[in-house]
Amino acid sequence: MHNVTLIKGDGIGPSIMDAAVAVINASGAKIHWHEADAGMSAYERTGTPLPDATMESIAQTRVAFKGPLTTMVGEGFRSINVELRKQYDLYANVRPAKSWKGVKTRYDDVDIVIVRENTEGLYVGLEHYLTPAKDIAESLAVVTKAGSERIVEYAFKYAIDNNRQKVTVCHKANILKYTQGLFLRAAREIAAKYPDIEFDEKIVDAACMHMVMKPEQFDVVVTTNMFGDILSDLTAGLVGGLGLIPGANIGVDAALFEAVHGSAPDIAGKNIANPTAVMMGGVMMLNHLGEHEAATRMQNAIEKVVNGGVYVTPDLNPDSKYGTKEMGQAIVDAMS
Ligand code: NAD
Repeated sequence: MHNVTLIKGDGIGPSIMDAAVAVINASGAKIHWHEADAGMSAYERTGTPLPDATMESIAQTRVAFKGPLTTMVGEGFRSINVELRKQYDLYANVRPAKSWKGVKTRYDDVDIVIVRENTEGLYVGLEHYLTPAKDIAESLAVVTKAGSERIVEYAFKYAIDNNRQKVTVCHKANILKYTQGLFLRAAREIAAKYPDIEFDEKIVDAACMHMVMKPEQFDVVVTTNMFGDILSDLTAGLVGGLGLIPGANIGVDAALFEAVHGSAPDIAGKNIANPTAVMMGGVMMLNHLGEHEAATRMQNAIEKVVNGGVYVTPDLNPDSKYGTKEMGQAIVDAMS
């Protein structure tokens, strides 16, 4: 039995998470769910978007399955996602983008995993105005040798564990000689320890062009925080959009699994949100928990239904008369 903190989240969160939890429960994995609150819904109920009870639950279970959270706008509210990553030092953000046979895009064979540094870079929150008129602003990027080494090491280990052939580091060391230069040097040092994995270096702007023109050149991509954020939306676009892309946030002694997309308030409550991305996050979680058979069973069932193109949400098939609930049920049925 595994203990997992379940945060259903805001907007479309509860509907896609209910569908995903039903599928995980049907996969054969034994999970004891500890439901906890976060986000806008938590704020409305408890007066804080990240209650202590939620943090205590994750501190106990060390594994969280999280729906999207609406970012609170206003002074004093930092992103809860950023807060959770910081609190548990979830330094590796893994975002796989793989083509689906049943989802038509410009490419048939994209299979790229973005490994994004999740705690440093330009997203450390060091921002301020330099003048009282607020007409000059400054944001600071922080890159450490230790932080760079551990994310590149993670990318190479991921490549080995997942039968991948190549790791590409994407950087901008030609311009940002200190922060990006440090990251690139660390990448080269770590790469030298893994002679069996091909190593490539690409400047991030050129990498964007190559990814769009010849995505098959890429396998595992490791990069700093903001570039990883941007590149992973690009790779999502190559395979059919954000509704399909999961994200794992991995730390030394905690991990959090989610979809890359947000709470989609524009479609909340309409039973049309695609649950695939969070379900694929669930597959990553089962693998993390060592439940490989259940993970494979679940992945096969998701693929069967998505590629079948019938019991899917309208973003995957505009003629579909089915929604989130029916798609979830079809995936549960595909496992029995
Ligand atoms: P979004 O990802 O919620 O939505 C962008 C577009 O994609 C919308 O048109 C939406 O309808 C569509 N979409 C997203 N997920 C979908 C799904 N599963 N099925 C079908 N269509 C889907 O981005 P946004 O509108 O910019 O952000 C909404 C809120 O979510 C904001 O408060 C934002 O800060 C937050 N957010 C949270 C996370 C997270 O919790 N990890 C990530 C991104 C954004």
